[in-house]
Amino acid sequence: MREAEQIAVIGAGYVGLVSGACFAEMGHRVICVDQAEEKIARLQQGEMPIYEPDLEELVTSNVLANRLSFTSQIGEAVRSSDIIIIAVGTPTLDNGDVDMSQVNSVLASIAANAITSKIVVMKSTVPVGSGSLAEQYLRLLAASHIEIQVVSNPEFLREGSAIWDTFHPDRIVIGAKHPDAGARIAALHASLRAELLMTDRESAELIKYASNAFLATKISFINEMANVCEKVGANVSLVAKGMGLDRRIGPHFLNAGIGYGGSCFPKDTKAQLKLAQNIDYDFKILRSVIEVNHLQRERFVTKIEQEVGRVSGKKIAVLGLAFKPNTDDLRDAPALDIIAGLQQLGAVVHAYDPAAVEHASSLFPGLQLFTDPYAALDEADAVVITTEWEAIRCLNWRLIRSLVKEPLIVDGRNMFEPNDMRELGFTYVSIGRKTAA
Ligand code: NAD
Repeated sequence: MREAEQIAVIGAGYVGLVSGACFAEMGHRVICVDQAEEKIARLQQGEMPIYEPDLEELVTSNVLANRLSFTSQIGEAVRSSDIIIIAVGTPTLDNGDVDMSQVNSVLASIAANAITSKIVVMKSTVPVGSGSLAEQYLRLLAASHIEIQVVSNPEFLREGSAIWDTFHPDRIVIGAKHPDAGARIAALHASLRAELLMTDRESAELIKYASNAFLATKISFINEMANVCEKVGANVSLVAKGMGLDRRIGPHFLNAGIGYGGSCFPKDTKAQLKLAQNIDYDFKILRSVIEVNHLQRERFVTKIEQEVGRVSGKKIAVLGLAFKPNTDDLRDAPALDIIAGLQQLGAVVHAYDPAAVEHASSLFPGLQLFTDPYAALDEADAVVITTEWEAIRCLNWRLIRSLVKEPLIVDGRNMFEPNDMRELGFTYVSIGRKTAA
């Protein structure tokens, strides 16, 4: 078996930091690079720049074992590593195309600093063909005596369970043009028990977009079913359960609610739609998936308005800001649009989140943010649930009943059994289920 590899991970964000720490835990020597100097300074002092369960312990133990280090100097990291993993952001441009500027800047640094052969691993989610273009570019610009091969290794971790996902992946996808490079990247993961799928680079790049587009489709589909359920008096939770028992469908990603958010599904669905447009293909399903997801947020604000009556001047307590539980990530979180919609209607919004309040303070300067949920709920005219945090489920709802001005809950995540909340004295409105009052 090959010895531990010397790896540079470029981009110490949600993916890069977690992957870097996990590869170190697997015995490799990893240097994580980020251009954000304050992020690196915090990491060097043992402080985590993001909230992710178990990350701090994993980072600390691997730093102490001398397998993990941090730098803002990309040149030094490129020169000292054989494998370079790119994990920088690939956001969406205004015209819907993928913004490749972070990736391109990393490629330029690799070309300028590589003095020995390298395998460059593309972990960032990038449009099909990017790996091939990157390899052509690096071969053109890097010193002629060195060999640079680009391997696609898309990332499937989920924020909130990122470390667990990295050690227990459903599959590892490696797209390589050169079998040796592919085999070497496969060997990096040798200690993991997971299905290994070796493909060409283009297929690997598309697997990532196809997976996210399909998951987003499941979510928009069940949300449309929820909207139908509301009109015919059916219960979407039972409909989803009945569907999910069919093994061809499966139970996952069938939770009706206010739709998907986060840094991946919204941008990757838009990117896939634009990629299709660029090759003259109208991806009709995906267009609808995106539209339904957007409308679901608007429908929810309308639902709140219908229940509250005149929203202007009313105090609305919004529970949950992050796009999903166990993360502080606010990128494209449904709660942000919903809060903006309520504020436009004149509501006084009090928002609580167990982890994302610090990030939210810079995004919403006018928003009243609370780290104590009960303070946020005091004298509220309505309680709105936007993220299904366990910390929200476990609140003392009997106490909350006595704190609020009006006992109205509008739950965008179907967190509770309607009858349980009715027994506590609330009017409980959820998605695709009958109101309990
Ligand atoms: P992120 O924004 O959290 O992290 C990116 C990091 O890269 C930032 O810290 C930024 O400062 C750094 N960076 C940017 N340009 C740099 C440069 N030239 N040199 C050094 N550092 C640089 O992003 P993320 O959420 O970790 O996502 C990274 C990639 O992984 C994206 O393509 C994303 O689509 C993909 N992905 C993300 C997830 C997820 O759950 N977040 C899951 C799977 C795949």
